Amino acid sequence: MSAPVLACSGVSRSYRSGDSVLPVLNGIDLRVAKGEQIAIVGASGSGKSTLLHVLGGLDAPDSGTIAWMGEPTQGLSQSALGARRNRLLGFVYQFHHLLPEFSALENVAMPLRIRRLAVNAANDAARAMLGRVGLAARLQHRPGQLSGGERQRVALARALVASPACVLADEPTGNLDRTTARKMFDLIADLRRDLATAFVIVTHDDELAARADRVLSLVDGRLIDRT
Ligand code: ADP
Ligand code: MG
Repeated sequence: MSAPVLACSGVSRSYRSGDSVLPVLNGIDLRVAKGEQIAIVGASGSGKSTLLHVLGGLDAPDSGTIAWMGEPTQGLSQSALGARRNRLLGFVYQFHHLLPEFSALENVAMPLRIRRLAVNAANDAARAMLGRVGLAARLQHRPGQLSGGERQRVALARALVASPACVLADEPTGNLDRTTARKMFDLIADLRRDLATAFVIVTHDDELAARADRVLSLVDGRLIDRT
């Protein structure tokens, strides 16, 4: 058995404001296998986004350990952590977070440019990935010139362009109509099959959750298997 692409053990995280402490994650254990699709559901405010941030190394846990491809993230410098994150993980946020003054092509090429890939090679890979998400005819559009569903597809292309082992997606269909959301699910299924990418998807969408290999519910700071 190969190491899980993403794993955490005993992860806790609370937020402190003044004298009060708000516990959010309370001893989370999770292992994500290569190519596995996991849906995380839970009430608003239950800590789903916090969990994704901690898993992705964007936020540090108060206690517990996180490992990417079997290697612990603890003790890495911020720059080493960032470099490993860039190589291993992709992120899709609820509100796309595309750079408004850049074209779709430039937005998708960005993770490769950050990895110092030459501009032509980065653009070729970005063009190919935009083709996969059905946006070959929108390469030069800026985010403001795209529909909501198209922006989410650009964000998915950006998350996948560097062939990450795992994509962390926070309500990727949260702002889409049913038809567009379904297209997004189909796309995720295709990409997962072709690229063996693992997905951890936070969602309120029962239809999307039903397509996952496992459904985990975040309740009182713990994950409960609902599959
Ligand atoms: P979810 O994504 O499940 O809606 P979040 O992870 O965003 O939940 O938030 C979990 C809880 O932590 C919420 O009650 C929220 O108000 C609180 N919270 C989130 N971020 C912060 C922060 N930076 N400082 C203080 N409290 C926070
Ligand atoms: Mg959230």
